Amino acid sequence: MSRIVGIDLGTTNSLVAYMDGDQPRVIPNAEGRVIVPSIVSFIETGYVVGDPAKDQLITNAERTVYSIKRFMGRGLQDLRHELQYFPYTLAEQNGVVTVQIGSNEFTPPEISAMILKELKKRAEAFLGEEVTQAVITVPAYFNDAQRQATKDAGRIAGLHVARIVNEPTAASLAYGLQGKQQGLVAVYDLGGGTFDISILKLKEGIFEVLATNGNTHLGGDDFDRRVVQLIAREIQEQFALDVTQHIDLIQTMRVAAEAAKCELTSHETTTITLLLPEDKGTYSRQLQRSEFEALIKELVTDTVVRCHFALSDAGLSASDIDDVVMVGGSTRTPLVRQMVEKAFKRGPHTNINPDEVVALGAAVQGGILAGGVQDMLLLDVTPLSLGIEGLGGTINPLIRRNTTIPTQAKEVYTTSADNQTAVVIHILQGERELAKDNRSLAKFNLPLPPASAGMPRIEVNFMIDANGILNVGARDLQTGQSQSIEVKPSYGLTDDAVEGMIQDSIKFAEADIAERLAIEARNEMDALEISTVKILEEEKGVLEESERNQIVEALKNLRQTREQSDYRVLRKAIDQLNTATKHLAEVAMDHQLKAALQNKKVSEIVS
Ligand code: AMP
Repeated sequence: MSRIVGIDLGTTNSLVAYMDGDQPRVIPNAEGRVIVPSIVSFIETGYVVGDPAKDQLITNAERTVYSIKRFMGRGLQDLRHELQYFPYTLAEQNGVVTVQIGSNEFTPPEISAMILKELKKRAEAFLGEEVTQAVITVPAYFNDAQRQATKDAGRIAGLHVARIVNEPTAASLAYGLQGKQQGLVAVYDLGGGTFDISILKLKEGIFEVLATNGNTHLGGDDFDRRVVQLIAREIQEQFALDVTQHIDLIQTMRVAAEAAKCELTSHETTTITLLLPEDKGTYSRQLQRSEFEALIKELVTDTVVRCHFALSDAGLSASDIDDVVMVGGSTRTPLVRQMVEKAFKRGPHTNINPDEVVALGAAVQGGILAGGVQDMLLLDVTPLSLGIEGLGGTINPLIRRNTTIPTQAKEVYTTSADNQTAVVIHILQGERELAKDNRSLAKFNLPLPPASAGMPRIEVNFMIDANGILNVGARDLQTGQSQSIEVKPSYGLTDDAVEGMIQDSIKFAEADIAERLAIEARNEMDALEISTVKILEEEKGVLEESERNQIVEALKNLRQTREQSDYRVLRKAIDQLNTATKHLAEVAMDHQLKAALQNKKVSEIVS
């Protein structure tokens, strides 16, 4: 199998890494820079990505796109509170956000693909070979649409996305925690503009996300802002200069504040010096680490509070956590490390560069996949939905795709025909609406004692363990009789097949739904036909001649229409019969009511 690189496609910065033997390493460009700022700037000759795009942030603001990750897989409605933060123009097409650059519109996956192409190019130049496959990381809280958008970005960039992996899972892989077999891991990720806390459960080498929390607008940039506010206040006081009138000065202050912050990570004190406009001279002051810590304490406390929320959602307390993993550049700040250590009552893992740890972990996952563990997918989510065949060849999904494993689901079903002696439990995998278009995994029978249709109650239980093994059990709740089977849904299933099945479900969605609606309508027709015939036999002169004729006519029409393929025609026939039997149904209801009043069992009257 060919090489699979690992990509951290970040909100602010992106990186690509590869496996050098059994060691993951990040890939630098010709100048030795490993970080690609996640910024795309549109210039006259096309577009630039990364550091050259960052240089355009101020001078070409309307055509320079940053933080595109915030828009992946989302609609404008989801983002109404965010729009104010962005100088470029956002629009919407078919429910998907687009970025407008002049007369062109780009979707978030298209912009992300430009960043991915840059990483691909960088990897190819470094490795001296074509790179066609990647593992890409996403936040643990990303939903299906956001994950799909990330995959689309990969495809547009000419990369086959071998796996989408949760960022906290990747960070844990970089630290080799999967080798521990089991434990509880907290991944604390504080970047430039976002904070995420994820609580993971590790069992038999597989990570399950138990809870996530965070703040999408809190990060190291806010630390810088606190320092900028302090400097601005002092310049105003000492030099009577309103800095808000000087855009360039604000930018210089921001750069100086960030430099001071980074300096205070390794030193107790630093000096900030700024040349002021309007011939005001030079502002200079020393900043102590303790002063800086007082400025940011409130912000770090916010992150710690959210850690406790996540723990509480997971039903855990801080002392249950076995490992704390630090991710994101801002976890270098000593106060952050101290407060996290205090919150979890244990020292966090910090020896891998926190900017690189996610990309390195993605490379580890790529290595595992490329290593060709042939019949097994290393999963932390189910890649395809699992369910059973329903009446008329439909599918009843029990576990939806992308559900984290281990997981369990239960449903109660009944029979559709009188005196059925068994039900067939047909286990299926896939995203299509009809059983025949999905992958058949197994089939078994559950014997039943004879009973009227709709009377038996059969409980079907799906359970996937940490190894991805699916156990399906079916139990007759009346007799207690049960049967079960074990299957391995990933057996013989390649990533390409998974992708193909998902693509087909999108491609055929409309036709599939129409066919499903037709089958459901036919099921309803069959039940309606049986009950109408029964009720006609038993109505004992309640109906007038004309009414009876109308019902017989509608019933005839229902039978003639049954094999038509258009569900709308079928529904019309159902409606026609329902209208014709309306009076009869009311009478039957009346009988039921009277019977109930006389303490008779309702089921005796109906059947
Ligand atoms: P990320 O989004 O993970 O790349 O993190 C970027 C953030 O990390 C920015 O706010 C940086 O200023 C911050 N950062 C980078 N290096 C340091 C450092 N040595 N000390 C404190 N913060 C840092």
